[in-house]
Formats: sequence, structure tokens, C-alpha cells
Amino acid sequence: MQTLDVTRPATGAMAVGVGQAALDAAVGYARERQQFGQPIAAFQGIQFMLADMAQQVHAARLMVHHAARQVDAGVTGNTYEASMAKCWAADAAMKVATDAIQVFGGYGYTREFPVERFFRDAKIMQIYGGTSQIQRVVIARAVLGAETAAYELRGDQLCRKARQIFRALVAEGHRADERLPLQVGQAPG
Ligand SMILES: Cc1cc2nc3c(=O)[nH]c(=O)nc-3n(C[C@H](O)[C@H](O)[C@H](O)COP(=O)(O)OP(=O)(O)OC[C@H]3O[C@@H](n4cnc5c(N)ncnc54)[C@H](O)[C@@H]3O)c2cc1C
Repeated sequence: MQTLDVTRPATGAMAVGVGQAALDAAVGYARERQQFGQPIAAFQGIQFMLADMAQQVHAARLMVHHAARQVDAGVTGNTYEASMAKCWAADAAMKVATDAIQVFGGYGYTREFPVERFFRDAKIMQIYGGTSQIQRVVIARAVLGAETAAYELRGDQLCRKARQIFRALVAEGHRADERLPLQVGQAPG
């Protein structure tokens, strides 16, 4: 996981860039596009969409900054934060790019405007470097703690072994709810 702990925040940073670009394009277009005698930015339905997009991008940026600071500081075992930053930023970019196309209306669907490209760029953020589903597997394992992680490692038929592993970890001084550096296919002990 050591490599992924570094590259996932970097992918998150790219996703933040895509989300910000989609938001900027949507804001610019909403100010410019006139419907019913006024810019569509005057409609509360559009304003709320832009406000939600801004929140998604801002939260993504903060999570990526946090994970990146850990990497810069040489923190190891930052799998949880790296996965959360990548997952949130990628999902945020996807949501924001989708809404950006909505703000553009029919033009958003064409290749004449940049948001169609941002939409495709956001999608790959949810796929490479570990899909958003896999990030959730990693995050859930960290949230659920050592016992659940141990069960997952070996499957139901090896529950007894998993219980032994768990007891051994607790005997070593680990807490039941502690996030342990367990990885798929890597059984402790
Ligand atoms: C443009 C591009 C660039 C890439 N660059 C690189 C690269 O530089 N280096 C590299 O190593 N790889 C790279 N990849 C590969 C990329 O990392 C994989 O495509 C990605 O990890 C998904 O694997 P997969 O395509 O085999 O999908 P699969 O593993 O077949 O997944 C298919 C679907 O099943 C879901 N899924 C799979 N397992 C689970 C599970 N346990 N729980 C829930 N859902 C699950 C996935 O989330 C996905 O939705 C790149 C891919 C693309 C498209």
C-alpha cells in the first residue's frame, strides 16, 4: 500500500482540478447564458446547483491537502486518509462535472464546450488508482477495525483462525477498534 498511499492523494489532486475547472466553466456560462430575459445565474435552481458544486470541490480540496501534508511529512500508514481523499475527490469531480453539463443544458452534451471533456476526465478518476468501490472497501475495513478485517482476510471457513488472530492482536496491546495495517491477502501472524 505504500505506493498507493502516495499516489492516491496525487490522483485526488487531479480530481480537484477537474472539479474546479467544471465549476468555473459552469459559473462562467451561468452568468452569460440568457433565458427568460435574464442570465440563468439569476435562477435559484442554478444558484443552488453551483453552491453544491462549490462545496463538493472545497471539501475535496481540504481532504486532499490533509492527505498530501501527511505524505510530505513522511507519515506512513496513511492508507485511510489517502483512500478517503482519492475517493471523495473523484466522486466530487464526477458529481460536479455532471452538474456542469446540466448548467450548460444541450450545449453541455456537445464537444463544442469543455464540460463534456471534464465529465470524461472525472470518470477516470473513479476508476484508476483503485476504483471508488475499492476505496470504500479500504475505508470500511479501517472503520470496522481489526476483528472484521481479520474475518475478511480469511473468509467464513477460517473464522476460528480469524478469532485467534484477533485475540493475539488484542493481547499484543491493539484495541478492538484500532485501524491495523492489514491488507487483502496479507494475514497477520
Ligand atoms: C485510462 C486508464 C489508465 C490506467 N492507468 C493505470 C496505470 O498507470 N497503472 C495501473 O496499474 N493501472 C492502470 N489502469 C488500470 C486501472 O487501475 C484499473 O482499470 C482499475 O483498477 C479497475 O480494475 P479493472 O479495470 O480490472 O476493473 P475490475 O476490477 O474488473 O472492476 C470492475 C467493477 O467491479 C468493481 N469491483 C471489483 N472488485 C470489487 C470489490 N471487491 N468490491 C466492490 N466492487 C468491486 C469495480 O469497482 C468496478 O466497478 C488504468 C486504467 C485506465 C482506464
